[in-house]
Amino acid sequence: MIKVTNPADGSIVGQVPCMDAAEVASAINRTCEAFPAWARRTAKERGDLLRGWYDLVRADKQVFAELLVKENGKCLSEALGEIEYGLGFIEWYAEEAKRLNGDTLPSHDPNATVLIVKEPVGPTAAITPWNFPFMMITRKIATALAAGCTMVIKPAEETPLTAYKLLEYARQAGIPQGVFEMVSGDAKAIGEAFTKDPRIHKISFTGSTRVGKLLAQSCGETLKKMTMELGGNAPFIVFNDSPIAETVAGLVSAKLRNSGQVCISPNRVFLQDDIYDQFVEQLVAAVTKIPVDQGMQKDFVVGPLINQMAIDKVATLVNDAVLNGATVRLGGKPHQKGGLFYEPTILCDLDETFAVHNTEIFGPVFAIYRFSTEEEAIRCANNTEYGLVAYAWTRDLGRAFRLSKQLEAGMVILNSGSVGTASVPFGGIKHSGYGREGGHYGIEEYVHVKYVLMAGQ
Ligand code: ADP
Repeated sequence: MIKVTNPADGSIVGQVPCMDAAEVASAINRTCEAFPAWARRTAKERGDLLRGWYDLVRADKQVFAELLVKENGKCLSEALGEIEYGLGFIEWYAEEAKRLNGDTLPSHDPNATVLIVKEPVGPTAAITPWNFPFMMITRKIATALAAGCTMVIKPAEETPLTAYKLLEYARQAGIPQGVFEMVSGDAKAIGEAFTKDPRIHKISFTGSTRVGKLLAQSCGETLKKMTMELGGNAPFIVFNDSPIAETVAGLVSAKLRNSGQVCISPNRVFLQDDIYDQFVEQLVAAVTKIPVDQGMQKDFVVGPLINQMAIDKVATLVNDAVLNGATVRLGGKPHQKGGLFYEPTILCDLDETFAVHNTEIFGPVFAIYRFSTEEEAIRCANNTEYGLVAYAWTRDLGRAFRLSKQLEAGMVILNSGSVGTASVPFGGIKHSGYGREGGHYGIEEYVHVKYVLMAGQ
């Protein structure tokens, strides 16, 4: 069994099976065997089953939210927010199943018709991380099922309880065995079982760039389609013409969500000269007001980090920055509560030579940089191997368009700190991965395009 602990106090909150190779193989077999019948179902039938699942989960939102708080550590209001976000994918794809339209093309042959149809790629597999234990599952499975694919998922060892609960509700809603399977156990062995199996035609992975590269290599043998949502190093650029209070609020909510353990978390905050001091002052005031606590309460709090490794990584980055001359404006050490709590921290006087500039922090640390010109801001923002999201704040329309073109990222967010919703294509470029999840772009990842020439007319 894999025991699941509450990061807020170390208590055991549940357990899931630690499957051996034979059990994993059986789940993969069921996923493959269920595919032909699932693909043959009408889009409406598939959509109706997804909608039924959506209704059951929505009715028990609170149960899911409390479980999520216990295994992940985020606070209840955030957990409920994640559930809304995650439910949005089931709803959206329940509807989209019916709109997976093909095409007819003008024929090059007067005696023929040219049809373009979209077919599900086949049985698929997914591996998910612990930071969004609910949404990561629904975003992948709802898309796959809507397209006519079956899917086996391996959730993160840290947060598998929400995943298994989602499976339980899917069964209650009538989503059959094989169509949606779940496995848990040794991550590397399961990853290999997925990637080496020639019957699995697509892998969707969200997690670290390191593991993403391993999986991509391993998939080379069987040439699977892949969606890779990997690490990020998001710039958050604030120009002098931005409304400071609004921008600070946007930054704080984007940064402290899930204690900063989010791939789209602003990792480098670039402030233009004239507003630098005032912005930092207001940021310190805003962050000081936010409590640090366990998450089982209504109001927003900064919760614990997921495990000791996460605390060690954040502490090392902050200590290194301080040793190299950074100024600590707030926090800077593990929280006095002990355990896995770390103080919300604001580091100033950083530049591109600091380790914190080139590393995904994954903790409640605001890393602040100064810039003078637009060119400098764009150059610094792009100076990273990652390219998931870039945030920028300016009221200059021309500049906003220039930024949207020149920032190297899969997503550019202007004058807001909020990114995700079910209808938009989420994903990155460079070492942040490839492929998109969400909206009608997301479902294209689960189909192949078939060209049919109907001649002889
Ligand atoms: P994180 O740093 O967010 O935990 P990881 O990439 O380590 O990112 O983990 C994301 C997911 O990948 C988890 O479900 C984890 O169990 C899984 N994972 C970790 N190592 C491997 C591996 N070698 N092969 C397949 N999956 C893995």
